[in-house]
Parts: sequence; structure tokens; C-alpha cells
Amino acid sequence: MTTQNTHLHIDGVSKNFGDVKALSDIDLKIERGSFVCLLGPSGCGKTTLLRIIAGFETASTGRLMLDGSDIAQTPPHKRGFGMVFQSLALFPHMSVARNIAYGLKLRGVSGKEQRNRVEELLNVIQLPLIADRPVSALSGGQRQRVAIARALAIQPKLFLLDEPLSALDAKLRDNMQIELRQLQQKFGVTTILVTHDQHEAMMLADELVVLKEGAVRQAAAPSVVYQQPADSFVADFLGAANLIDAGVYKGGEIQFLGTTSKVATHHPQGTRLQAAVRAEHIKLQPAHATQHAPIGTIAFMRDLGPSTELIVDVNGERLRVRCTNAECQGLEIGSQVAIAVDPTQMSLFSAA
Ligand code: ATP
Repeated sequence: MTTQNTHLHIDGVSKNFGDVKALSDIDLKIERGSFVCLLGPSGCGKTTLLRIIAGFETASTGRLMLDGSDIAQTPPHKRGFGMVFQSLALFPHMSVARNIAYGLKLRGVSGKEQRNRVEELLNVIQLPLIADRPVSALSGGQRQRVAIARALAIQPKLFLLDEPLSALDAKLRDNMQIELRQLQQKFGVTTILVTHDQHEAMMLADELVVLKEGAVRQAAAPSVVYQQPADSFVADFLGAANLIDAGVYKGGEIQFLGTTSKVATHHPQGTRLQAAVRAEHIKLQPAHATQHAPIGTIAFMRDLGPSTELIVDVNGERLRVRCTNAECQGLEIGSQVAIAVDPTQMSLFSAA
């Protein structure tokens, strides 16, 4: 059911390009004022979905309901959406002010109001002194801010962004993620951003929509997707989980890594499972400290500053482990270690 707070309802949208099924039956309710990230690997249909929302593509089936009204027949320029693409599509030889005012001018907003709005937005993006500079004379980060300001100038009903930060270097990208989130909250604008970067999606989203091969695998708050992934694909895509073969042994016990462990599972005895365990949820102890735990050998170690990343070889299974530096004291490549996994931090999926 569409609630009052639903701003955009993507209602059973599918899209075929000839034989290619780019989207299958997407059903999403996007809340007013929320920041939604469409996340997934290359070719999963993220851009196609955004382009359908923008009106640059038409859905093969399904409806787009904005505030309860079907917008299928509304052309892109009449939808009143603000857009930022990876290419930014700024006018390089126009001044910053004219770029930001562009959408306002098209809408017949008076010159005075245009100037006021440009000034206000330049303050918001913390670039108050560059109104007269040509865009071609700006740095990458400055251009990014101008593109965002131009999209927000028209007070868009929806703010749509397709990989807007992917051309920036890592540090600038990090800063821009924070700025983008703050701007979105300040304006309270419903925002949909496409990215293939799980870290970016976790940083920005109120709701994360994970897509694979044109279908939604999970849509929920980032913490829910991280802690309770819907399937092994989501677990692996978000934060590189270890996917370990496991089997249900008897009444609530599973076998994995050559030992048994008590876990709450509804799967019947004999079911083949995959256990998804995040690198930071594996604890290492000296091999002699415990009798029943799986034993492995450290094959790789890398000090990352605040933490250490390890690969531990357990009977041919290579586990990624992340420890605090204190937990790794005394360990080195070749050390034998006992593996401890907190069963409450493990997600179990049917191997089928
Ligand atoms: P990327 O992260 O690489 O941009 P994406 O998740 O945004 O990928 P889309 O660009 O939406 O994926 O493409 C989804 C599928 O639809 C792909 O198989 C793609 O090849 C196909 N596709 C997209 N646009 C067209 C088109 N105009 N004609 C034919 N096939 C298309």
C-alpha cells in the first residue's frame, strides 16, 4: 500500500532492450525527504532505473507514481527533477552564476530572484566568491559543487544523481560525500543516487536498494542490509563477507570449517548452507588456547593503520580476517591460530 509519506512509488517496473531484460518487476516506495542509493555491480540496471525515473527511458511495464499521480506521460523537462551525472554536463564557458541560474531562467524566474538564489546557493556550497568565473577555470571538486547547486536551484521535486562522485580522487570524494549528505538534509529533498561503491552507499543512504541482474535483492536501511543480508550475494557485495560451506548437523548445530557450532537455524538436518561471516567478526586465538576450534595458518598480514587485515588458511579455505592491532600482537605469517566465530554474527543461507 502506498502511504502518505511515499513520495515516489516505482510500481512493478520492468524494462527490456530487445532480448536484454534490464529490469524485472521493480517495486519500491521511496519516502519523502529520504536519501535512497541504488547499489549493484555493473550492468545490474541502476542507470536504466534512474533514467526511467528521469523520463529519458520508458518502462516496458509498470507505473511511476509521484505523489499518487502517474507521470508516464510527463516529459523529462516537465517533471521538475534536478539531475547530476558523472559527466556533470555544465556549460564550460559560461560563468558559475549563469550555470547555476540556467534552470531558473528556463522557467522564467525574474533576474533579481535568479541573482538572489545563485548567491544563496553559492553560500550553501561554500564558494561565495566565484560567481563570475568560467566553469572551465574550476577544480574538479568545485565543478561538482556547482553541478549540485545547479540541480538544487530549481527546488527539484526529486534530486537524481548517477555516479556523480566517481571521477574524484579518494580524499575529495570522501569530503564530497559528507557535503552531499549535509546539503540533502538541509534541503530535505527526496534523493536517489546510483553508485557501484558500497562504501559510498553506506555513507549516504537512508535506504539502500541492492540490485542484481535487474532485480531488487534487498531494500532496507544500510545497517540492516549489513547486519542481516537477505542472501549471500548481498552479504558478499556489501563488505566482502567470507562465504563458508556449512551443513546442518543436528538440532541447531552446524558443521563448518571442520567443526560443529551451536547456531539458531530453522533449516532441517542435512541441508547444505553457506555461512556468511564478516572479516571483523572472526576472532583469532593462539592455536593451543582451545581444543575444539578450527585451526588455521596465517598466509597474509597487512597493517592498515587502525586495524590489521589477514588471510588465514583453514583446510584450504582462505578466510579474510580483520583484527585490531592489539588483537594481532605476536602473530606473524605462518602462525597457527584458532578461529572463533560468534554465531550471532553469522548469516546462514541455503546453498541452493
Ligand atoms: P553500470 O554500473 O556499468 O553503469 P548499470 O547497473 O547502470 O551498469 P545499466 O546501464 O542500467 O546498468 O544496464 C542494464 C542492462 O541493460 C545492461 O545489460 C546493459 O547492457 C543494458 N542496456 C542499457 N541500456 C541499453 C540500451 N540503450 N540498449 C540496449 N541495452 C541496454
